[in-house]
Amino acid sequence: MSTTSDTSVAARATYEPVIGLEVHVQLLTESKIFCSCSTRFGAPPNTNVCPVCLGMPGAMPVLNRKAVEFATLAAMALNCRINETSIFARKNYFYPDLPKGYQISQYDKPLAEHGYIEVEASKKNAENQKLRTENRELRTGLRSKRIGITRVHLEEDAGKSLHEGFPDSDEKTAIDLNRTGVPLIEIVSEPDIATPDEAYEYLTRLKEIILYTAVSDCNMEEGSLRCDANVSVRPRGQKELGTKAEIKNVNSFRFIREALVYEIARQIEVIEGGGKIVQETRLYNSHEGKTYSMRSKEQAHDYRYFPEPDLLPLVVDEKWKAGIAQALPELPEARRARFVREFGVTEYDAQVLTVSKSLADQFEAAAKAAKNPKRVANLVQSELLGRLKARGAEIEQSPISMKGVAASADLVESGAISGKMLKDLYDLSFERNKDFPEVYEEEGRPQQSSDTSALEKIVDEVVAASPKQLEQYRAGKKTMLGFFVGQVMKASKGQANPQLVNELLSKKLG
Ligand SMILES: [Zn+2]
Repeated sequence: MSTTSDTSVAARATYEPVIGLEVHVQLLTESKIFCSCSTRFGAPPNTNVCPVCLGMPGAMPVLNRKAVEFATLAAMALNCRINETSIFARKNYFYPDLPKGYQISQYDKPLAEHGYIEVEASKKNAENQKLRTENRELRTGLRSKRIGITRVHLEEDAGKSLHEGFPDSDEKTAIDLNRTGVPLIEIVSEPDIATPDEAYEYLTRLKEIILYTAVSDCNMEEGSLRCDANVSVRPRGQKELGTKAEIKNVNSFRFIREALVYEIARQIEVIEGGGKIVQETRLYNSHEGKTYSMRSKEQAHDYRYFPEPDLLPLVVDEKWKAGIAQALPELPEARRARFVREFGVTEYDAQVLTVSKSLADQFEAAAKAAKNPKRVANLVQSELLGRLKARGAEIEQSPISMKGVAASADLVESGAISGKMLKDLYDLSFERNKDFPEVYEEEGRPQQSSDTSALEKIVDEVVAASPKQLEQYRAGKKTMLGFFVGQVMKASKGQANPQLVNELLSKKLG
């Protein structure tokens, strides 16, 4: 496809994409949604099953209270209105991994509706990049856009078809029903998403919020978070939506973005070539970077939805709702604002420090314990995250704990150690895989030298050993001061108090 040709580029500018996302999130309950089977991932195939989740005749579903509470909590975090009464419905279709022949879901009366997520509105890449680097403080809040959430509903997962991993996999497909009946929420967005970048941003924020509520681990490799994208294009200014295609089963946010980029270009090219978009389900091949038609897309009426006769309407009354709301944590956006307010960190710092709840909790504890929270924030970013990134590790694997960071920040703050000494000690911590306080002890609690007479001696030696530089300095080249400071620091093995060195040198040279 010649999507990079000039005609295509011109054509693309006259169309606008319309994107809506459907995200399935597995809830972290211990048992399934309608029976007491375990939801544990990685159990041997078909061991976590019972007559209910196998769809045996006469077996009756019993709703898991915890699943309702988790779903409600997630919906609240996504700013949804919780419907007091919602109805479970049968969604009828045949698939080998769906033994009942229907999935219990919610249809016209879902658990929650009318929510939203704030995302950073997408801009042209170059401009965005420039803003990111030049003005990180201004990044958040200025161009935020609200993406509507149509609904959040509860449903059960289907089983899994295994097409590989067995000796006869080339001719047979195996079925694992452990996942059948695992509780899911489906989060359906409004078609408010205008670009693939915005879709990526929406998914990132969504995952962040869900992780904060701790109702799911959002592990994409294990299928705890799955995303389908609906996308259509229409001439700019046109009100009616174009025909949409659904891209299914994309297993990373990056691939979703790539799949959307491809699919938008494909649809424009079809329309420009005089063709018509067919409503269909497409699969993304990440190796080729292309989407392929899988099947024509079902309409809702194809599923013959009807209310599930074996389950009563679900009622989440005010009292229950209030109880659930108590478990609602401070969400990332609010936490960022508070970090800026309470600890004097920048918006950008706050963004980095709240990227996971665990990091944010640890940072907050350290910031509160330390004399200067701002210094803790700086150390986390400049010294800790950088070193972790270099070894491809997450914050959970850091040898230096947040307590360690706080302790080191206090040592610098009080002048006991210099910035250079801190860097060296951090290096040792990473080398030895030990926390900062331990390494600090092992190194004999090093102190930067504030012993004036000892430092004066070093200053004298350094100045005496560099007559040329001294001459330049006295001839007016004041930048040579840096050279002398460096020499003294080196001679003191980094342990001299830089401020004191500066003072002594200025006196001596002047
Ligand atoms: Zn079961």
